Amino acid sequence: MTWNKELDTSRRYLMGPGPSDVHPRVLKAMSTPLVGHLDPEFIEIMDDIKYMVQHTFQTQNELTFVVSAPGSAGMETCLVNLLEPGDEAVICINGVFGNRMADIVERCGAKVVKVEAPWGEPITTEQIEKALSTCQPKLLAIVHAETSTGVLQPLQEIGNLVKEAGALFVVDAVTSYCGTEVKVDEWQIDAIYSGTQKCLSAPPGLSPISFSDDAVRVLENRNTKVQSWFLDLTMVKNYWAGAKRAYHHTAPVSAMFALREAYRLVLEEGLQNRFQRHLSNHKLLRDGLQEMGIHYPVQEEFRLPMLNAVTIPDHLDDVKIRQRLLHEYNIEIGGGLGKFAGKLWRIGLMGQSSSKNHVNMLLAALKDIV
Ligand SMILES: *Cc1c(COP(=O)(O)O)cnc(C)c1O
Repeated sequence: MTWNKELDTSRRYLMGPGPSDVHPRVLKAMSTPLVGHLDPEFIEIMDDIKYMVQHTFQTQNELTFVVSAPGSAGMETCLVNLLEPGDEAVICINGVFGNRMADIVERCGAKVVKVEAPWGEPITTEQIEKALSTCQPKLLAIVHAETSTGVLQPLQEIGNLVKEAGALFVVDAVTSYCGTEVKVDEWQIDAIYSGTQKCLSAPPGLSPISFSDDAVRVLENRNTKVQSWFLDLTMVKNYWAGAKRAYHHTAPVSAMFALREAYRLVLEEGLQNRFQRHLSNHKLLRDGLQEMGIHYPVQEEFRLPMLNAVTIPDHLDDVKIRQRLLHEYNIEIGGGLGKFAGKLWRIGLMGQSSSKNHVNMLLAALKDIV
């Protein structure tokens, strides 16, 4: 036990699937003296954050705010508020996080209609069209950036299909958000959630979400109560919006301070510059790894710039190399998840961890080791 020593860490370079490195300004904001969660000064901070969530989601949606819990709670918020027992939901699955959505849908008492693609490949619009026509879908949910496989799912054409089927379009943007284009209004997304510890580079534990007017209408016309008390938006929204600002739960004040500063950094940089930075550092890493004979299993046009899933060459020992990176070079990268365990490395170049220096450091360390 080390409880008798003051807390410190080895200041790792965080290049796994999250959390990512955090800017010193964000850490400093987190140490700001507390105010009450209903203090007018805090309400103002919440308004600042709401404005910046809308800006980064590229949406005018009024019901846009931050759930006081990690990305998985954002996922659950979107699904439990929109689904009632007996509903049908089309869930697209090509990795770990699609499976997690299906699990939540079942727990809502709704019926899951699965659309599956092999891990490492995107879901096709033909598959989606077909699935939507075989049921009466209340919603279709899909992962934009599948962190377990490194696949970027094209979304532009799906919104129309979902609308034509009279359903709501639900998107997991946990890893894509603030690292590549996410256009909520233009892509006709009705409910979207993200997390703070990936390309936004804030500490983990919060989940930005947004609901369209159509989604709010579905919420308001429910026959049954939302299954979760904590995540029930009909109640939480009175804390985040409107004149009342009624107590619902005690907001994680310090985490919100940090989040506000992380958003300010995003807006200062500008979304397009930020996307470009993620892309160019991805290319730098790709070229360096290729020289070493390390390749991407995902087809080039569907690769995530912020999460580089690469095949571990047969002659290299997965665990040993990741341990050496961590203990000798202070660098964290991710191993494979689910059926890709032991087969892939997942190298995160997210937010603050997407820099030339991070890429060059990792390449140098790998060359040293292998
Ligand atoms: C990380 C992640 C989540 C879960 O977020 P947590 O903050 O770990 O709960 C959900 N979906 C995707 C695609 C993710 O990458």
